[in-house]
Amino acid sequence: MNLANKVLIALGLGILVGLVINFSGAGSISWVDTYIINGVFHVAGKLFFNALQMLVVPLVLFSLIPGIVGIGDIRLLGKVGTKAFALYIGTTAIAISVGIGLAAMAGIGNGLDIAADQNFEGRQAAKSTVDIIIGVVPKNIIAAMSNGEMLAIIFFAIFFGIALLIKHKESEALITIIEQLNRVFMQMVEMVMTFAPYAVFCLVGKAIAELGLDLVFKLSGYFIVVMMALLIHAFVTQMLIFKSFTGLSVPMFIKKIRAAQIFAFSTSSSGATIPVTLRTMQERFGVDRAVSSFTVPFGATINMDGTAIMQGVATVFVANLYGIDLGIAGYVTIVLTAVLASIGTAAVPAVGLVMLTLVFEQVNLPIEAIGIIMGVDRIVDMTRTAVNVTGDAVITSIVAKSEGKMDLSVYNDPNVGEVHEVHLEDIDAESS
Ligand code: ASP
Repeated sequence: MNLANKVLIALGLGILVGLVINFSGAGSISWVDTYIINGVFHVAGKLFFNALQMLVVPLVLFSLIPGIVGIGDIRLLGKVGTKAFALYIGTTAIAISVGIGLAAMAGIGNGLDIAADQNFEGRQAAKSTVDIIIGVVPKNIIAAMSNGEMLAIIFFAIFFGIALLIKHKESEALITIIEQLNRVFMQMVEMVMTFAPYAVFCLVGKAIAELGLDLVFKLSGYFIVVMMALLIHAFVTQMLIFKSFTGLSVPMFIKKIRAAQIFAFSTSSSGATIPVTLRTMQERFGVDRAVSSFTVPFGATINMDGTAIMQGVATVFVANLYGIDLGIAGYVTIVLTAVLASIGTAAVPAVGLVMLTLVFEQVNLPIEAIGIIMGVDRIVDMTRTAVNVTGDAVITSIVAKSEGKMDLSVYNDPNVGEVHEVHLEDIDAESS
């Protein structure tokens, strides 16, 4: 059985086992909690998450630098950057409008009586737009790398790549070394992905086992609308955008993006999923490194369609709950703020909820009300992260196709670039 199918089965089993633990109440038995949920599931999931994150910075650096040297045309980079930025922002605005529209139509929150959580605080984590812009140029690249400041890392890689391009005649050896490093890190990604079936099972099992099902029922209006809006955006809106801009096969997109979606779903982090998204775009979609190694980490950082949808739905829900009429001006403010907030949302678990404080402040909704939806946010976070990553792949394909930087023979081949599991015997055979 191939790895993709194993991962899919692991996802199903993880959900099943999580539900069994949840419904049976086994989670409150001390040994199940200590040795299974917070033991095996937690440790295996965390190890996998760390391994992915460990690869993000070197992979982006060693993929983007030779990508720039390879195209040798700095103007293309400007075009790619402008197009990607405009499309990322545009699609996020569409996403939040869909979220607001659906939530308003469903009238969620009306007539409910739920007390706010006075303990919710979140303001500290929200970065201002000015700080985001200043942070693009790092004053210390080592610090930026150790903090995973993606925009700063992208800036450094582009700067370095351009300098290397200017000095390419005397830097042949260095260029070769960076190319080789890139290949080695890609190999490491494949090796980490080999463990995906076990890790996905543990991550999803833990998340579902810990999900407060009573809260899901209590907040069913919010929960159902936000999940529906996310699915509609991923499988209808984004696919329509993809089809109309590229003309390429949608079933092929859905087949090939699945691995990245499952990784995003189980880790709740588009940042940690970067290695998988990047590999998928390059090896499975045929997108040139020059485009993908820029648009993927850029998108993981600034493009958050799923997060924006959650913020739109949550705003309507809370406004209705408190009987506050936001009016058209209020909704326009929400769209603008949420789009800006998505740029500043770090691609790690649960930050979208913290950034919601920014949106609420703009339209004077009570911040403590965010605590109400916090209980169901884990599962919503998993789903919206998968939508965020799908958006990155859609825009990367559109930009690459429009610049002639997508190899269509790769895209149209269903089996190309599948991950092959690495076994110890293979390593022995390779090295002898
Ligand atoms: N977890 C999301 C991501 O990494 C961000 C969020 O909405 O919390 O894409």
